[in-house]
Amino acid sequence: MTADTDVDVIVVGGGLMGTSAAFFLRQRGYSVTLLERGLVGQQASGVNFGNVRRQGRPLEQLPLANRSREIWNRLPALLGEDCEFLPCGQLRICYDADAAQNVERYAHDARDYGLELELLGPTALRARYPYIGHDALLGSLGPQDGHANPRLLTPAFARAAVREGAAVIENTEVLAIERQGDGFEVNTTRRAGPHNNSSTTYRGAAILITSGAWAGAMAARLGEPVPLVARGPQMGVTEPLPYRVEPSIGVKSDLPGQTVYLRQVSRGNIVFGGGYRNDVDLEAIRAYPAPEYTLHQLPLMARVLPAMAKAHIIRTWSGIEGYLPDNLPIMGESAKVSGVFYAFGFSGAGFQIGPGVGDVMAELIATGRTSTPIDSFHIRRFATTE
Ligand SMILES: Cc1cc2nc3c(=O)[nH]c(=O)nc-3n(C[C@H](O)[C@H](O)[C@H](O)COP(=O)(O)OP(=O)(O)OC[C@H]3O[C@@H](n4cnc5c(N)ncnc54)[C@H](O)[C@@H]3O)c2cc1C
Repeated sequence: MTADTDVDVIVVGGGLMGTSAAFFLRQRGYSVTLLERGLVGQQASGVNFGNVRRQGRPLEQLPLANRSREIWNRLPALLGEDCEFLPCGQLRICYDADAAQNVERYAHDARDYGLELELLGPTALRARYPYIGHDALLGSLGPQDGHANPRLLTPAFARAAVREGAAVIENTEVLAIERQGDGFEVNTTRRAGPHNNSSTTYRGAAILITSGAWAGAMAARLGEPVPLVARGPQMGVTEPLPYRVEPSIGVKSDLPGQTVYLRQVSRGNIVFGGGYRNDVDLEAIRAYPAPEYTLHQLPLMARVLPAMAKAHIIRTWSGIEGYLPDNLPIMGESAKVSGVFYAFGFSGAGFQIGPGVGDVMAELIATGRTSTPIDSFHIRRFATTE
């Protein structure tokens, strides 16, 4: 990297992708400044459902998901805490023959990618999980996956990155990224405190854009527009109930609005999500949870877990996530501006792969290649012919 820049890499956005990349870049000896408009982990990375789920991902994402799953095992050693990761199993159930056929085919194909899934017919499902509604046709269990606490993971990566020597600068919004000589100038404005609205320019040899649902506008300013759409998955949580539900459970359905998922934390609360996605406002930084979407979720939840029919809902929320039409993220170096790298657009499924994304992006920036295939995620797939 060039010597006339302040740091090797400026990371734009302190969600899970940015903080984990900052951590792994430092582990490779790169100097890093991470700039976050608000607080680290305040957006999608901190408010998501917490599924650590590999099954159901597009097959070409499984090598990345497997690499990430291995990092989940090492969180206590890497970060000094386990972020409440429970490898208690992740179970997908379905109610109709078409979905069951898809789930069976997926279990067969995923084996080639190193993901072993256990298929459970109705009798085996009932015997092992008697609390699940009795009309489920098939279950597919990923025994090594599970769930974790999203509030904990991103701040833990940020603290670990700082311990390793990264600068993590919060309340600092990136306004513009300009090429200057061999590197880049990043113009920012302060968003809180006594120096509110003051400007600072940071210089870096490379830029990593991990600004989540807001990254589409940044890529467009760099000449690479992408069809990123921002939406808000609908979440909720019940009062604490006696702890019984071990795996994280999701419904596989191809019907609109019928996919729901739930998990019980050891304190007893059941966290749930799915159904329809909410409107969001990127400028106001707001997702608007719709009460009618919660009402839509409740019978779907009670079908999975009849005991939920009588539970009190104590909180609902949403968050802002960027979706791409093929449900694959954008990862890799810019096709237009060398030295700019992207990792965004995780389309509602970035939590499990987040630690792996940071590791792979650090490898790409440091070595120019990756040992895990990410070619299908490159931004060039959306390049328009002019
Ligand atoms: C409600 C909800 C539930 C979900 N459930 C799951 C799940 O169970 N399992 C799963 O795998 N995935 C889930 N996801 C998806 C997952 O949370 C995301 O894919 C992942 O967190 C994206 O991480 P990120 O770092 O790319 O984005 P974010 O967490 O959004 O981080 C981007 C950061 O960039 C910052 N930023 C933006 N613009 C600027 C700027 N100009 N200057 C400086 N900083 C900027 C933002 O403030 C933000 O902190 C869910 C998402 C939501 C919203």
